Amino acid sequence: MADYGTANPDGKFWNKELETLPREQLEAKQLEDLKEIVQFAYDHAPYYKRSFDEAGVKPSDIKTLKDIEKFPFINKKTQRDTQGVGSFLGELAAVPEEDVVFISTSSGSTGVPTVSPFSKKDFDEFQDTESRWFYQIGMRKNDRYVHALNFSLYVGGPDVIGAQNLGALCIWGGTLPSERLLFVLKQYQPTIIWTSPSYAWQLGEKALKAGYDPKKDFNIKKIIVAGELGGSIDSTRKAIEDIWGAEVYDFYGLSDIFGACAAQCEYHDGLHIAENHILVETVDLKTGEVLPPGETGELVFTTLRKHARPLIRFRTGDIGRIDQTPCKCGRTHGRIHILGRKDDMFIVSAVNVFPSDIEAVIREEKDLTGEYLIRIFEKDFTCKFSVEVEKASSSTKTDEEIAAQTSAALKGRIGVKPASVIVHKDGELNTRSEHKSKRVIDERTLTYNI
Ligand SMILES: [Zn+2]
Repeated sequence: MADYGTANPDGKFWNKELETLPREQLEAKQLEDLKEIVQFAYDHAPYYKRSFDEAGVKPSDIKTLKDIEKFPFINKKTQRDTQGVGSFLGELAAVPEEDVVFISTSSGSTGVPTVSPFSKKDFDEFQDTESRWFYQIGMRKNDRYVHALNFSLYVGGPDVIGAQNLGALCIWGGTLPSERLLFVLKQYQPTIIWTSPSYAWQLGEKALKAGYDPKKDFNIKKIIVAGELGGSIDSTRKAIEDIWGAEVYDFYGLSDIFGACAAQCEYHDGLHIAENHILVETVDLKTGEVLPPGETGELVFTTLRKHARPLIRFRTGDIGRIDQTPCKCGRTHGRIHILGRKDDMFIVSAVNVFPSDIEAVIREEKDLTGEYLIRIFEKDFTCKFSVEVEKASSSTKTDEEIAAQTSAALKGRIGVKPASVIVHKDGELNTRSEHKSKRVIDERTLTYNI
């Protein structure tokens, strides 16, 4: 069977045989790879050897796909706790450093960024998967593609190679300032762009303000969005499409796996996930009990073919469900529907923001009392947040100085500035309580019902 890196594009499929494999054969292939990767992880990654032994399970216990349920979970904390232990790549890594050709990292918004290593083969298969998604949304050799994603340490950066391997003309846009990006859109008339949904909307607004008509002055036919939920929220997707006169496709990636692990097809009904690379489980948020396909819970991924750092039962923290019924497009790989994050996390300009990070900053500032209130809201389809703080009575600074220094400290820690910092007098914020204080007010209307 045509496998990886041997694509033979056929009409609408990058790899027709793989993408339309009957479910039974797809699962047989998953089982074969699962057995191999679990054994490999046990033999080469010190963490898995220890955790499997402690749980009383062994690789040979895997006889069916369901047997994965006997194995222990890992999560972000496992990655953080084991990284740098024993070697630079840590105890989840299963290959020596000389076999690693690339690392990406998470944003580090919850603390130390976690490192995701790739072997040469992992990286090639990653890019083959990205080519599959680009092809799926209709990218062809005659397209001009602007990859407007950050390249530094971010796993979405190298995805542009998947577009190049497909034969499209690629423009490595990175994080160009918007004026420059608008120039690129006007001058080179690209047909496809990838950015975050909120930026796609903002850029459209900026274009209008600058006197462009995005529908006439540019030639953008398709917009790929990722990093925020917007691309899967019909009203947001439609608002972006209306400005640009282009079709919006939602992609979903994880810094721990691939820049895009899943992508919408032309039916926009969930995102096809690369089931030949990822075994998906859905589990109850609290108990960890495995739920039947179609039920909503936390998505748990097992990587089937990444050897540099296999992830066995990785709790993604994303809430969603998987639909494994055939899609109208003919692809047999299941579709995931993501509803939101498990934590209190919220996302501003594609940066993950956690209330705990804001608290950490507020509590470090000597001019503040440490009391704070976070307000999360939407403006122009974009998530924003403001922070209210109290000036310590000992402080000699003005309110303006305190607002500026707090804003800069927040930007330094989490990567984005709050929309505003409001400074109150000591004791003015009504957040003190003997019981659990309510310090986060979420005013967003685009809610995700779980
Ligand atoms: Zn489909």
